[in-house]
Amino acid sequence: MKILTLNDRKNVIEQNSYLVIDNDICILIDAGISLDELKKYTKKLDAVLLTHAHYDHILFLNEIEVFFNCPVYVSKIDEKALYSSKLNLAIIFGKVFKFNTNLENLETFEDNEIIKFGNLAMTCLLTPGHTAGSSCFLIDNNLFSGDTLFADTVGRTDLPTSSRLEQKSSLKRLDSLNFNNLYPGHGRASTRAEQNENIKFWLLVN
Ligand SMILES: [Zn+2]
Repeated sequence: MKILTLNDRKNVIEQNSYLVIDNDICILIDAGISLDELKKYTKKLDAVLLTHAHYDHILFLNEIEVFFNCPVYVSKIDEKALYSSKLNLAIIFGKVFKFNTNLENLETFEDNEIIKFGNLAMTCLLTPGHTAGSSCFLIDNNLFSGDTLFADTVGRTDLPTSSRLEQKSSLKRLDSLNFNNLYPGHGRASTRAEQNENIKFWLLVN
């Protein structure tokens, strides 16, 4: 399995999208990379998985979904944020983000659901806090943590549908989870071992 970290300068916020490639299967985690950039790395896409529905993570979702005609997975709870510029924060960037409400292939997942493509099994973990429907994806030993957990810090909880209390429970959950590598929605990648202190610190803070 190969994991590519993709950034796009056209995205106003430095956001990490990830391409997970396993044999002939290719999955995109978050859609913060433009179609033109994405096409440099792959000719096919089997699915897009969204960690949450914030603007910077769904910015190019429409054009990617139309071009590759592949399913898009988001947690049931964050689904409505796709279509609300208040909830997806597009409004903060001074743009009313016009999302195509006719996403042809939108699928929602529940907590602990396993999405499979070929030999690739992706466990969806609901980790509310940053948003009510924030999710992490566990693929083998790799945790794609969106804006729930970063290298050396955690996601903001002062946004619409955020909850500090829920985030704490989610971090507790991640603390008990088996994974080696951390791939967050922003900033550098890290490891479980390296983030041990970070997670413990945020579990102590009220
Ligand atoms: Zn976010």
